[in-house]
Amino acid sequence: MKMYDITGSIYEGMTVYKDKPEKQPKLNQQTNGYVTETRLELDVHTGTHIDAPLHMMVEGETFESVPLDKLVGQCKVLDLTNVKDAVSKVDLEGFGLQKDDFVLFKTRNSFEEAFDFDFVYLAKDGADYLAEVGIRGVGIDSLGVERSQEGHPTHKALFANDIIIIEGLRLKEIEQGEYFMVAAPLKLIGTDASPARVLLFEGLV
Ligand SMILES: [Zn+2]
Repeated sequence: MKMYDITGSIYEGMTVYKDKPEKQPKLNQQTNGYVTETRLELDVHTGTHIDAPLHMMVEGETFESVPLDKLVGQCKVLDLTNVKDAVSKVDLEGFGLQKDDFVLFKTRNSFEEAFDFDFVYLAKDGADYLAEVGIRGVGIDSLGVERSQEGHPTHKALFANDIIIIEGLRLKEIEQGEYFMVAAPLKLIGTDASPARVLLFEGLV
């Protein structure tokens, strides 16, 4: 069995959404000479993280509504590195996706360390297609599943169909195929997202 960590590292100076300085984590480390403690100030959408419906829907459900049992299990990594702009229905149809699949998109984003304002995202018609198939979740290797599309149609189409959204995955080393995934977010209450450690295991499915 082989394990892959597909989580981005969290540190001051890391890549954050649209390079906004206010989105940088702050690590305030104090020491009295023998005891060291760090206070961490962190946007819940930092690095690899899972969104909750509240993020894009007024009165949407908060993070504790995301069920852990949907975050642990089989997943499919799809090689979409040939997609230049947005992942659409036509890019997804050939994979034979099935109900309850959890799909992770490996795109050219995984090969870029700096924030790319033209990152590959999931188009609305791709999200509608995934909803039609009835997948349980989708993960992408960009810090957003859409690029500030007017009205956030991709997020809304996914949330309306109880499809979990993981953003900020790092999939450069991962080959297309089936894996066992453990996506373990912090157990936050009342938030619109949570950072998560996401691991893939080969040979368990
Ligand atoms: Zn997010």
